[in-house]
Amino acid sequence: MARYTDSVCRLCRREGTKLFLKGEKCFSNKCAVSKRPTPPGQHGQARQRKPSEYGLQLREKQKARRAYGLLEGQFYRTYERASNMKGVTGENLLSLLERRIDNVVYRAGFAASRPQARQLVLHGHFQVNGKKVDIPSYEVDQNDVISVKQKSKELELFKAAREGSSRVVPKWLTVNADELTATVAALPAREDIDFSLQENMIVEFYSR
Ligand code: SF4
Repeated sequence: MARYTDSVCRLCRREGTKLFLKGEKCFSNKCAVSKRPTPPGQHGQARQRKPSEYGLQLREKQKARRAYGLLEGQFYRTYERASNMKGVTGENLLSLLERRIDNVVYRAGFAASRPQARQLVLHGHFQVNGKKVDIPSYEVDQNDVISVKQKSKELELFKAAREGSSRVVPKWLTVNADELTATVAALPAREDIDFSLQENMIVEFYSR
């Protein structure tokens, strides 16, 4: 499947916010958004016109899509599912995105970024309820236990996670750093999701 292969820092600069796609670098003074807070490209520093309503909605959609690392088609299909669920579509959408196993691996502190989490899942380092899962879009459910495969636990890759990540774990997950497991204590609700996003604008974008 096609993937975005250009510099991910350009994506943050385009959205004008940190999307935390590079792990430790995102928290350092090397972060491109801190160094050059203008859109990328030749005209990035030119005075920006006031964006239209459509432009604002598009940016919110792109921000979410890029932060969670989905292609347009995948993102739209997730939106369609969210709109067919009971409740508020924007909140359903965020909840579905949070339940992706690559996001859970990141949120639990087992990977430095969502792109790294995606790679680790693809390489077969994780299990859900004792069964191997290597599909990044796999959706976890309440009471699921996500664990690092026994053979992978001693890998240097998971050293930081074993020592206890400094990242704040959302309250819908219960993490055991010694065992490298995360349990889905509850399904993520909007107030549990630490992402400054106006999800209602994404709904408006797709409802046009
Ligand atoms: Fe985005 Fe991280 Fe790059 Fe900063 S360092 S621009 S937050 S990916």
